[in-house]
Amino acid sequence: VFTLAIESSCDDTSAAVLQNDKVLSNVVAGQKIHEQYGGVVPELASRAHQQNIVPVVELALRNAGITKNQLNAVAFTQGPGLLGSLLVGSSFAKSLSAALQIPLFAVHHMHGHILAHFIDEAGFDKPTFPFLAVTISGGHTQIVRVDSHFSMTVIGETTDDAVGEAFDKTAKILGLPYPGGPLIDKYAAEGNSKAFAFTKPKISGLDFSFSGLKTQILYFIRKKQVENPNFIEEHLADICASVQQTIIDILMDKITLAVAETGITQVAIGGGVSANSGIRKALKATESERGWKTYIPKFEYTTDNAAMIGIVGYYQYLSDMQVNQNVVAKARIQM
Ligand code: ATP
Ligand code: FE
Repeated sequence: VFTLAIESSCDDTSAAVLQNDKVLSNVVAGQKIHEQYGGVVPELASRAHQQNIVPVVELALRNAGITKNQLNAVAFTQGPGLLGSLLVGSSFAKSLSAALQIPLFAVHHMHGHILAHFIDEAGFDKPTFPFLAVTISGGHTQIVRVDSHFSMTVIGETTDDAVGEAFDKTAKILGLPYPGGPLIDKYAAEGNSKAFAFTKPKISGLDFSFSGLKTQILYFIRKKQVENPNFIEEHLADICASVQQTIIDILMDKITLAVAETGITQVAIGGGVSANSGIRKALKATESERGWKTYIPKFEYTTDNAAMIGIVGYYQYLSDMQVNQNVVAKARIQM
């Protein structure tokens, strides 16, 4: 089965071709335009998707070494995301499915981040059910109990900011460009994570809160800058390492609680923030320290990509879950 998948929920235009559960190509065109604004500008994102979609799909087919007439299925991100961005991908996918007369599959973006672990990749094991998926991204922070490919229950989530926002907003306070998560990761590697202490939010159960941390960091930096105007420049690595460690501790505390409450010791992370080297290391360490089995996605499947949409489309194909032309993109959808 050859599946063409399209992802356009935010600011990356991506197309992938899968043969069953193997990825033949996965093209991602980022949008530099947003950097200067310190965040994604929806109108500009939508326009860039319109410019990128045809060349990105053509390149994905070319890299896969197949023609569009060989395709058996088309999958696209239905939501959640920016509506103007989703509309570009969904319209394109619907037209292609109609023109080629092949089935169409509407995919929930977060299912993509979770089922990315089922892509067939040398050196990467697929989780067995049930497992806990921890989705940490620019818009989500959730702990999901996954009982089968299509039976998922959110058991904990953020009550305010997503963890990716905590990274990006901290980066903004530090004067780093958007998206700042990868830069914090990079500077943290050279810093001392115990240099500065930040308090963790007091929120019970499996839910998260990250907005207080951002405010705490803002006041901390302002205060230090009164004493020393060059505080950020002189201590950048230590600040990044300390903030990142606080975020890792918050995540690990809740994951540990979820494992205790469910008795499930298989934990898979997904979403853009699962690219973070500190988080990867902390999770991996639980294998030898606590006997958990952990799943950490291949780097290319962490941030937004169409391959993860394609794997969900493929499983939907196997389960006859195709949709008709009345399907619409949605900015918000339940899991
Ligand atoms: P969602 O998936 O919730 O709709 P999104 O698609 O915008 O949100 P992703 O592309 O999955 O988000 O993830 C982007 C986020 O990942 C950004 O906040 C970015 O800063 C963060 N990120 C990427 N790499 C790293 C890293 N190495 N360390 C920390 N954060 C990172
Ligand atoms: Fe995402």
